[in-house]
Amino acid sequence: PELINGEADIIFRSKLPDIYIPNHLPLHSYVFENISKVESRPCLINGSTGKVYTYAEVELIARKVASGFNKIGIQQYQVIMILLPNCPEFVFSFLGASYLGATATMANPFFTPAEILKQVEASNTRLIITQACHVDKVKEFSKEKNVQIVCIDDTVPDGCLHFSELSQAEEADLPEVDIRPDDVVALPYSSGTTGLPKGVMLTHQGLVTSVGQQVDGENPNLYFHSEDVILCVLPMFHIYALNSIMLCGLRVGATILIMQKFEINSLLQLAEKHKVTVAPIVPPIVLAIAKSPDINKYDLSSIRIMKSGAAPLGKELEDTVRAKFPNAVLGQGYGMTEAGPVLAMCLSFAKEPLSIKAGACGTVVRNAEMKILDPDTGKSLPRNQPGEICIRGAQIMKGYLNNSEATKETIDQDGWLHTGDVGFIDDDDELFIVDRLKELIKYKGFQVAPAELEAMLLSHQGIHDCAVVAMKDDAAGEVPVAFVVKSNDSQITEDEIKQFISKQVVFYKRINRVFFMEAIPKAPSGKILRKDLRAKLAAGYPN
Ligand code: AMP
Repeated sequence: PELINGEADIIFRSKLPDIYIPNHLPLHSYVFENISKVESRPCLINGSTGKVYTYAEVELIARKVASGFNKIGIQQYQVIMILLPNCPEFVFSFLGASYLGATATMANPFFTPAEILKQVEASNTRLIITQACHVDKVKEFSKEKNVQIVCIDDTVPDGCLHFSELSQAEEADLPEVDIRPDDVVALPYSSGTTGLPKGVMLTHQGLVTSVGQQVDGENPNLYFHSEDVILCVLPMFHIYALNSIMLCGLRVGATILIMQKFEINSLLQLAEKHKVTVAPIVPPIVLAIAKSPDINKYDLSSIRIMKSGAAPLGKELEDTVRAKFPNAVLGQGYGMTEAGPVLAMCLSFAKEPLSIKAGACGTVVRNAEMKILDPDTGKSLPRNQPGEICIRGAQIMKGYLNNSEATKETIDQDGWLHTGDVGFIDDDDELFIVDRLKELIKYKGFQVAPAELEAMLLSHQGIHDCAVVAMKDDAAGEVPVAFVVKSNDSQITEDEIKQFISKQVVFYKRINRVFFMEAIPKAPSGKILRKDLRAKLAAGYPN
């Protein structure tokens, strides 16, 4: 065992043995490694139109798109922004970037122009792939920033290329590129444990390792297999769906049913029609399913796995849904963008189901190490004692783009990634998350970075100081609320503040409540005492 200050580090590993993962391969070669067995099988189903793409078609279109990127001047290592809802073009664009050795950065298509521009600048995006309805938001700056725009719709606004320019390119023109395992293939944005959103560098090796940890090995039925029909309603611009649905689904040769937008009845309808077997979801969707009065109208007996992740799932809700789907295993996964993203997953998906406890968010993935740190002493803790969850392995991020300072704060010199989540591991190796040390707010699983909203609030001259924290909410899990100290003579109101912010941000970052106070509680170092503010809210503040 490693010695830390003369004491052995307490390290937890999966109860399943490590496996061989071919993480020297580029991501696209790895996911299509076994394609010859599934070439004519349905790979993607577009839930909106019913159109089916076979594995052979998806692989060919992806290579054509890579060649198309090259044709319009995009080169290896350059960044392509995918600004799309779930659709087949998302998959083709992501894989196309991989084939070319380029990097895909994903952004929420509902972002405001300012939010998109920030990510374009920070990532040095050269090309944006989007829908016609979002083109106006990027056109404003595209000339000045020298960014090309590709539109996937048939009505192509002026100044944009149509997606067919990419998808109908000659695959033979795809240049030979030398892709190294350490090259960055995906660049999602996440605020991590503190501060503003940062580019998370996920490499070919990292994503291959993460997918392998979930679906490879002696027992390929740990999670998915090629007979599965996997529902993809979670947004692919978030790494959870991109990795755990799209890439894992492709690797095993399963069928991926793409839903562009969540609506409970169309979800139930599509799940019945296409005989969905695996439904990766998030707590708000679990809630919608539990509450749906129409659930008995549909035959959903094909569903064998429901996996919830991205935010905490309440025990009662978990039990309610279990009772409604007696044939399905409902378990949780635990992810964090920087961790690649999966740290732990429910093992009951394995062929031989292992025990599963309500509230547990799985056990640590194979080929990785986990430890639980006492935040005060920095020492690793034994079972059943809560502390900060840390993970180490080839799947974690390479670092934050152009931000070695933040990288060093998150990944220590021994290679441990510090999650900012508090949890413990029980006697059966199951991980329970009990608290969050970091600032991050999760609205229905979407990230809201307090620092981003605080910077906007402080730019208003009527505001002298502020702090944004999470408030519990039944529907969303958490919503951002602001504590505000007005400037001298300022008459600013709650509504004015809310409107000032909502003009600048995507819907889930809108401030839900504003509380005026005399001074923001801070530590001597100047750090906002967020815990105190959260405790005030929990105690019913301001009443
Ligand atoms: P993201 O990077 O957007 O995936 O957010 C990661 C964070 O979401 C984690 O660090 C946790 O705080 C939270 N999270 C993810 N999965 C779970 C889970 N199963 N239970 C509780 N919190 C979770």
